[in-house]
Amino acid sequence: MRVYTADIKPEMEGQKVKLYGWVHEIRDLGGLVFLLLRDREGIVQITLPRKFVSKQVFKLAKKIRRESVIAVVGEVRREEKAPGGVEIIPESIEVLNEADAPLPLEVTEKVPAELDTRLDHRFMDLRRPRVQAIFRIRHQVLQTVREFLSNEGFIEVHTPKIVSTATEGGTDLFPISYFEKEAFLNQSPQLYKQVLMAAGFEKVFEVGPIFRAEEHNTTRHLNEAISIDIEMSFTDHNGVMDILERLVHKVYVDVAEKCERYLNWLEISLEIPELPFQRITYDEAREIAARKGEEIPWGEDLSTNALKLVGEEIGGLYFITDWPTESKPFYAMPYEDRPEISKSFDLMHDWLELSSGAQRIHLYDMLVESIKSKGLEPESFGFYLEAFRYGMPPHAGWGLGAERLIMSMLGLKNVREAVLFPRDRHRLVP
Ligand code: ATP
Ligand code: MG
Repeated sequence: MRVYTADIKPEMEGQKVKLYGWVHEIRDLGGLVFLLLRDREGIVQITLPRKFVSKQVFKLAKKIRRESVIAVVGEVRREEKAPGGVEIIPESIEVLNEADAPLPLEVTEKVPAELDTRLDHRFMDLRRPRVQAIFRIRHQVLQTVREFLSNEGFIEVHTPKIVSTATEGGTDLFPISYFEKEAFLNQSPQLYKQVLMAAGFEKVFEVGPIFRAEEHNTTRHLNEAISIDIEMSFTDHNGVMDILERLVHKVYVDVAEKCERYLNWLEISLEIPELPFQRITYDEAREIAARKGEEIPWGEDLSTNALKLVGEEIGGLYFITDWPTESKPFYAMPYEDRPEISKSFDLMHDWLELSSGAQRIHLYDMLVESIKSKGLEPESFGFYLEAFRYGMPPHAGWGLGAERLIMSMLGLKNVREAVLFPRDRHRLVP
């Protein structure tokens, strides 16, 4: 008999329903009390005219505290002035758990709170429909990712998050103690997904956490993020760019189609990007930035400011391809005829990087040289390098940040908005 608020339609006039939810708001007009019940699907008005409900129910409604959990049994009535065109005249109201007062955070949209305060009391913040909407959409995004990649023949895998080697060297690692050894939280599944190419899976994907000890506190960096990773054999950078753009396109299509209600809660309408996404080279991006006053020395990563200028000009979803080999990790494959450039790409949304990928070096000697050229020690890549000696197929792949994708799709100002309990430089709780 339980129904969700969103399922109640004016055509159900006269029907008896049971609802569970939270007391969103109470309006006490003396002889008439309005109570808004909120559940995960929306809000419905419970109307209590003194004359038409029992004394006991009326008294209870007058003293109930906001955000208490209640069960309501009542009759559906058509009421044009109520949200959704319906109201419930309650026969009974049961308080399942009374909320304390005052509330640590306002759930109604009346008083805007700072992000930090909201994150401190995240369980309460998550009760707000527009915040709920983000995570309902996030669910759809991940559902689409799994469905799309499975249909393309990819197999979902899980690789270790506790590791002994740094994926790419570097300083952005979290060390942990692992019995008597030192270990790290993995910053990327890169090495393992490549090893799985040597194992013969040909197409794998992983949706899992990556850990990065990013020192700086920006609106696009988390210390724990969810990465959507693929690796694919017998293809090159173009092959995996094709998969990536079709996947992102499908995510937009599915969210627009299946999450209309949540998009409305967020007050946004999604524009579906057109396929194929525009491709510009690193050199072209550098030229655009230079023309607008930001000079980047050849070989260096494009600065945030440079990317903002490029984003201004290109806009939307686009690829930056053909990065200098020195600016990319050791496993990126250089072009045969111009080794200073690699078969690599970043997927951008305006100024924000959503994904990085490349064809990988699959040749053992070339890989060892490349590791050395980055100042890393081949000895610390033992299990990885072994996989390249006994039949490693050519392969390519990418990593796509789930939160960055959601952030840019929904126009969120801060990547933390797309995470239930974000981890950043200053936040380890809740
Ligand atoms: P950036 O230059 O923006 O710090 P990156 O080039 O270091 O990112 P990659 O190693 O290329 O990141 O990781 C692949 C993808 O994973 C990125 O494009 C991004 O979407 C996501 N990602 C990486 N680091 C983070 C992070 N700290 N927080 C959120 N997402 C991240
Ligand atoms: Mg990158």
